[in-house]
Amino acid sequence: MRPLRDGKKEAMNKGTTNSNGFQHVLERKEADLAQALRRRDDIAMEKSADQLDEIQYATERDLAMRNKDRESILLREVRAALARLADGTYGACIQCEEAISPKRLAAVAWAPRCIQCQEAADRDREEGTESVVETLIHAA
Ligand SMILES: [Zn+2]
Repeated sequence: MRPLRDGKKEAMNKGTTNSNGFQHVLERKEADLAQALRRRDDIAMEKSADQLDEIQYATERDLAMRNKDRESILLREVRAALARLADGTYGACIQCEEAISPKRLAAVAWAPRCIQCQEAADRDREEGTESVVETLIHAA
């Protein structure tokens, strides 16, 4: 009987299980986004001889392009999170290297920053442009 070693082993297993859970979430999100981005390509290709249709399509294309930008950014973040999972830095803020709260990761599995650094980054970006990250978090 070596209770100390057993305890440690159990803790390590638990950590691995959590990472696998996030990996699953991230991989599914990556697949969803990749598929959505492919669909947007189809929308953007639509053309019509009818002028009203053309205007309608132009509006849809415009909206689709904006969504596509957002989804591209999100896809990059999801892939970056998967890379962090692979190299063992997942769950640490990319800015201050503090642990990101489990609650935050449960809501936004691809979050690259802790809430403090994210809020600071959002404040920096606020001038003129809407905060993409905020939009993403609400959409998630
Ligand atoms: Zn941080």
